[in-house]
Amino acid sequence: MKDTFKHKGLRQQLVNILINKGITNKKVLKAIGEVPRHLFMDSGFIDHAYQDKAFPIGADQTISQPYTVAFQTELLEIKPGDKILEIGTGSGYQTAVLCLLGAKVYSIERQQELFKKTSKFLPKLGYRAKKLVFGDGYKGLPDEAPFDGIIVTAGAPFVPKPLLSQLKTGGRLVIPVGDDVQTMTMFVRKGPKDFEQEEFGEFRFVPLLEDKN
Ligand code: SAH
Repeated sequence: MKDTFKHKGLRQQLVNILINKGITNKKVLKAIGEVPRHLFMDSGFIDHAYQDKAFPIGADQTISQPYTVAFQTELLEIKPGDKILEIGTGSGYQTAVLCLLGAKVYSIERQQELFKKTSKFLPKLGYRAKKLVFGDGYKGLPDEAPFDGIIVTAGAPFVPKPLLSQLKTGGRLVIPVGDDVQTMTMFVRKGPKDFEQEEFGEFRFVPLLEDKN
């Protein structure tokens, strides 16, 4: 597990690509410039780690495209100490970005294989999530709610109600909604039953699956 000058240079190029694509939040860009994405991928793909593309990570899943990670993270407007719930831990790359922004991160993954691998891997790199959970993201994490932000990193066929109800007032849910293609959607909680909704264009994710366990 090495992070070299070459990798750092490639990461800076990736940051420049994200700036050209419209990402402006300096803290988000700094985090992308710091997280060694090549270490989150299977060795065969290391040469591709700093392209702005999604890649396979095993168990039929993918590590999200860096632009998508940056875009969703930017929408969350994280302040240090914010309590953030991530649905779809996957490789842990997004989790690491959230940790670097000073969030208290809770993350749920439903694939046992990925859950185990990432739970071991993240602390090795020094990224300490508050809690990594093996379970069903559709239910959220009621015991730890409410959250300042919830980010869903798989395509949701519909918006799970528990996720909306687990937001603080002022909290944000960033979720790609749709079947084959998803519309990036943000809900901001204005009151107990009052949510503001905004849409941000089309993205493609692996599906958010119903619990299989
Ligand atoms: N954030 C990840 C993206 C992984 S892809 C990363 O940066 O690598 C989406 C992940 O969502 C997959 O790992 C998939 O197994 C997981 N997933 C799908 N349905 C889920 C569900 N209902 N609950 C929790 N995780 C789920």
